Amino acid sequence: MARSFDTQTLEVGDGIFAYIQRDGSWYLNNAGVIPDRKLSFFIDSAATVARAEALLDEAHRLGVGDRVGMVATHHHGDHTNGNATIDPTFLVSHSTVPEEMSNGFAVPPPGLFTPVDWGDIELRRPDFTFASALVLEVGGRRAELRHFGHPAHTLGDCVVYFPDDRILFAGDLAFNGGTPFALMGSVQGWLDSLDALRSLDVETIIPGHGEPCGMDVFEGIERYLRFVYDLAQQAVGAGIGPLEAARSVDLGEFAGWHDPERIVGNLHRAMAELTGTAPGGYVDLVSAFGEMMTYHGGPLACFA
Ligand SMILES: [Zn+2]
Repeated sequence: MARSFDTQTLEVGDGIFAYIQRDGSWYLNNAGVIPDRKLSFFIDSAATVARAEALLDEAHRLGVGDRVGMVATHHHGDHTNGNATIDPTFLVSHSTVPEEMSNGFAVPPPGLFTPVDWGDIELRRPDFTFASALVLEVGGRRAELRHFGHPAHTLGDCVVYFPDDRILFAGDLAFNGGTPFALMGSVQGWLDSLDALRSLDVETIIPGHGEPCGMDVFEGIERYLRFVYDLAQQAVGAGIGPLEAARSVDLGEFAGWHDPERIVGNLHRAMAELTGTAPGGYVDLVSAFGEMMTYHGGPLACFA
């Protein structure tokens, strides 16, 4: 029997649907579906084949036909592993995403997360890319794809903005109730992206993970990123490593967010930036994830 998943489809604007996967922790991402008689659109897919099939079933129920376009908000496997299952006519992303997909791991190395039935994942890379902005007509309305010029959650984060509907699919530039994760992007670059995000005229944000929210979600994200940066500065000054620095602090208001072990990965990134690695430059991901496991006390909890 097929597994049932804890998901909800919300019509966040006229004909614009948000597909919410609870509880928004590791690999439980949100997607967007905009049905249209001519050409329907997906914003991202899902982490596993079974979850992508469930998303596709729901999209068909909403009126999505055979002709679909897709936007990848970034390269991470939770947002892209199901691309081949959705099988869009074309897939568009920021220009760094194809290479990030090739260099990253779609399915994480065994033992890093609690066991997941990923299915037979086939990498489906973008068909065309853009550098800073692209305007598409989606479901008869204007959709603006924007990259803010900085590495942030990853190198190639794009948002999908519907100005007439005041709706923003923020990808993983917004986590609602989950810990922001900058290991593969830049803590400083994410902070530098916040002004541009806040300048958009938006009523409803669909974050990459968590429930739909308003612009105030960025206040907590900014406080968290500044907390990480301050802690990284202290750790560099004290000559201690990311794991030791993470263990030395109380996460305070952030302790209740999902996946708090991301503090270790975020410190790896922030400390690399403070000690000379360019934003978005090389950081040893294996060592960072290993220390996140140590902080967590075992494989990271994944319910995908
Ligand atoms: Zn992500």
